[in-house]
Amino acid sequence: MAASTTRRRPPRREPGTGTTTTDRVYGWQDDPGESLPPAVPAELRPVPDLSLAPLRMRIQAAQPPASGAYQLGTPEFRYWSAAEALARGAAFWRQFLPAGTTWQPGAELLVLLDEGEDFNAYYDRQALNFFHGTAGGRTVYSGESPDIVCHEQGHGVLDALRPELFDAGSIEAAAFHESFADICAILAALQLQSLRTAIVTDTGGNLSRSSRLSRLAEQLGWAIRQISRDAVDPDCLRNAVNSFFYHSPEELPTSGPATALSSEPHSFSRVFTGAFFEALAGGFRQAAAAPTEADLHKVSVDLAKLLAAAVQAAPVVPEYFSQVAAALLAADASSGGRYRDVLTSAFVRRGILSTHAAVGMAAVQATMALAVAPPGGAATVPSRELPHLALSGAEFGLGDVPLLVRAASEPRRLVTAAAAIGVGSISAPSSERAARAFVEDLIQRGQIDAGDHGEIPGWIVHPHTFKTHRLVKSENGFLLSRRLFDCGFRAHVMG
Ligand SMILES: [Zn+2]
Repeated sequence: MAASTTRRRPPRREPGTGTTTTDRVYGWQDDPGESLPPAVPAELRPVPDLSLAPLRMRIQAAQPPASGAYQLGTPEFRYWSAAEALARGAAFWRQFLPAGTTWQPGAELLVLLDEGEDFNAYYDRQALNFFHGTAGGRTVYSGESPDIVCHEQGHGVLDALRPELFDAGSIEAAAFHESFADICAILAALQLQSLRTAIVTDTGGNLSRSSRLSRLAEQLGWAIRQISRDAVDPDCLRNAVNSFFYHSPEELPTSGPATALSSEPHSFSRVFTGAFFEALAGGFRQAAAAPTEADLHKVSVDLAKLLAAAVQAAPVVPEYFSQVAAALLAADASSGGRYRDVLTSAFVRRGILSTHAAVGMAAVQATMALAVAPPGGAATVPSRELPHLALSGAEFGLGDVPLLVRAASEPRRLVTAAAAIGVGSISAPSSERAARAFVEDLIQRGQIDAGDHGEIPGWIVHPHTFKTHRLVKSENGFLLSRRLFDCGFRAHVMG
């Protein structure tokens, strides 16, 4: 087989003897980063098994390469390093899923490792799609980064747990999808002992410091910076160590540079990711006087378990961040309350929970039972959807045909609120106002494919913007339907 001619050692920092084996493959310890040769080690790991259920996966390949320790930069190396990251992420989430949970597309999720030229990656309810792009004389493969691979897989995991979120007409629900995906990348990375040890050393035990763990997708971030200087952080795509404070997304600009918070879902997701990461750092700090990598592993498992419970319990409503925060506190209370203080502190400091709401939560959480199917319990019902809400089409240039949007309108079981910038709490917008703001944002960013409708007055016509949504004609009006969650960079220079 031709592939065996490229089966050699990576150029540096490889562990082991370098003898060719078939029961070991190389996996990156973390995103390979921007330096050449990479400063991040590729490590020999057992051959990953993507066929385990639930969360079975398959990388599409005419002929999958035989397992082995291939040379860095080869397609075979990328195949196995992606497979290793995918298997690690799936193994991690498998333990927190209610029995019977499957991917939305079915028992198996397809992975397309190189779908052509773009600086992107996306989940479209059919497959995880990855691309390659060239910048600064280098070609970067989004499917090579464990951060990006586990982020896209995270969209699929959340879609399995809470399919209602996929098409929710709400900025906060869309932003939460991005945040959950980033959190998946962080938690999957923490399942590697070598990375945990490195992070505890690098941060001196203070996880609140920016580190390889908090910095996501350094390599793709570098490539995007060569094209659009302020679109991403100076040292990565996004950083979970940040200081963004909650603000109603309806009142934020539709887009902005990476340094500012905007209502664009990837930008806004950083508020929730930052709070979750702070809780992770706090949980680690409180684990022991001198916590170790084993404590870090335990905190990662504990918080993931709470998060899986919270996303199933929290109703999809416009103030979704604060509802998930409250559900995290409730899930924690029902398993002993070990993380109550660190969760409360993280979400109050970010304004995701107002101090008033946090006080209210403390009173109810002790008695609150979560309506969550435990692992081994009832199955998630596939294809659950939110109800359609008809918005006036005239408002959006559609004449007298209504625009149908799935509204974030599930019944609330608990009243929570985010903090106002001044005093007190913010009253959440109605589902209708949230849906309007969501649609307006999509139009302003040129992200809706108008399909058969052709040109719509007042809509941005930009053939190169990435379309996350499309209009679908139906008997009752135009349905706004999500096509995919992408990784957030509109590569309009690609042509
Ligand atoms: Zn994403």
